[in-house]
Amino acid sequence: MNSKLLIYNSLSNKKEEFKPLHPKLVGMYVCGPTVYNRVHLGNCRTFISFDLMVRWLRYLEYKVRYVRNITDAGHLEFDADHGEDRISKRARLEQIEPMEVVQKYTLDFHQCLAKFNVLPPSIEPTASGHIIEQIQLIKSIIEKGYAYEKNGSVYFDVLKYHKSHQYGVLSNRDIEELAHNSRDLEGQADKKNPQDFALWKKAEPLHIMRWPSPWSDGFPGWHLECTAMSTKYLGEVFDIHGGGMDLKFPHHECEIAQGVAVNGKSPVKYWIHGNLLTLNGKKMAKSTGSFLLPDEIFDGTSKLLKKPYSPNVVRFFMLQAHYRSVLDISEAALEASEKGLDRLIYGYQMLDQLQNGSDEYEFDFDQWLNQSQTVMNDDFNSPLLISQCFTAVKFIQKIKSSGKKIPPEMIKNLKKHLGLFLVDVLGLTIDEPNNSKTNTQLQDSLIKILIDLRNEARQNGDYSISDKIRNELFQIGVEIRDTNLGTKYYIQ
Ligand code: AMP
Ligand code: ZN
Repeated sequence: MNSKLLIYNSLSNKKEEFKPLHPKLVGMYVCGPTVYNRVHLGNCRTFISFDLMVRWLRYLEYKVRYVRNITDAGHLEFDADHGEDRISKRARLEQIEPMEVVQKYTLDFHQCLAKFNVLPPSIEPTASGHIIEQIQLIKSIIEKGYAYEKNGSVYFDVLKYHKSHQYGVLSNRDIEELAHNSRDLEGQADKKNPQDFALWKKAEPLHIMRWPSPWSDGFPGWHLECTAMSTKYLGEVFDIHGGGMDLKFPHHECEIAQGVAVNGKSPVKYWIHGNLLTLNGKKMAKSTGSFLLPDEIFDGTSKLLKKPYSPNVVRFFMLQAHYRSVLDISEAALEASEKGLDRLIYGYQMLDQLQNGSDEYEFDFDQWLNQSQTVMNDDFNSPLLISQCFTAVKFIQKIKSSGKKIPPEMIKNLKKHLGLFLVDVLGLTIDEPNNSKTNTQLQDSLIKILIDLRNEARQNGDYSISDKIRNELFQIGVEIRDTNLGTKYYIQ
């Protein structure tokens, strides 16, 4: 490989050559979801972006320890230091136990990401499972003199920290401005300065999610869990920390301050922030009601879209944008992605139909491979990798339609490397079910009978029957697509 991996580091605001702390090993931490609600498509974009990065690092033969946490304690409404715990509130509304809320939405999160073919992390720690580590961390921060206790709660002393270190290095916030922007609300009175943030909060009598500590029965501050869990599983300093843009401040800024306060060194070498998914130009978010749920897109029940789209298509749509660009979702964009993905898949499958021989052709495989690796090494540029895949597919189609022959070595190389890019790196599903080990020939034959019946119904103008067959197959996870090569089906 001729190129080196460059990563855009949000700390320096520039691309830097990636040099892991330990050769061939990468420690990576990504802030996971707060499991109080079903994940929306915006959340999924962030996890798909980091999935792409893990896949690329593994392609580069790094051994990646990928830690992605579950926030199941300490995250209050509005990301604030006061107010109701998001999980407790949901438990109250659904009249179930907080841990039932956690279980229900963790399961939903896992199922959703599995549909998108997002690989599971190496470790998925929970905040509630690391209360002891968080209490220990608070004790250390107090010992170092950067935290104080007041009325059973403990706060990080931002101004004191700022005297010897710089608070705001990641988000470039001005400490004075922060004071103006911090409103003096209920629950803030115990703080020495409005910029301070909670490390431990004393629980109000009705607050259910509480743990004993040296200061009070209470719960940890939201920013603390990620410092406790990343340190435990990746060390005081590790390679990569990621999350969505919106976590830069205050969450990640506070993580840096906590790490520096305890260990005297900045905890993360490369900070990576994924950009937002928007809907009609507005950030997709539960709080504003402007969001799409993945399952509504897959089963076609979303009121915002005319037809269903498979997880494979939605994943492809996401990867057609660079992770640092804002991405706006629309019906037209999804339709274009669906068509594009079909072209790629059929092009790839057409490789099996090419004839071995040694006719003249214009395609420099080594240069193509090198260029594909170079674009991904340039800060994980998936849209350019996809465009490289299209270049290969155009070549395959040209050879097929001209009836030319190419050497078996070339077919083998294209099959291997295009397959690696589409399946291993981009995480797309490209196998026809009859090639898949999980599907029996009987199932294949039955689906083909249904497809024939549907096509007959269409020819006879009986669209209610043909649509019914297509939609009902889709409901059970079988997607039918009409292509230039006939009707194909995919099992999601
Ligand atoms: P939360 O459960 O709210 O902490 O969010 C989980 C992850 O999803 C975080 O990394 C957020 O930054 C990310 N996220 C939330 N909304 C969006 C969005 N509209 N687009 C992309 N990522 C998002
Ligand atoms: Zn976090």
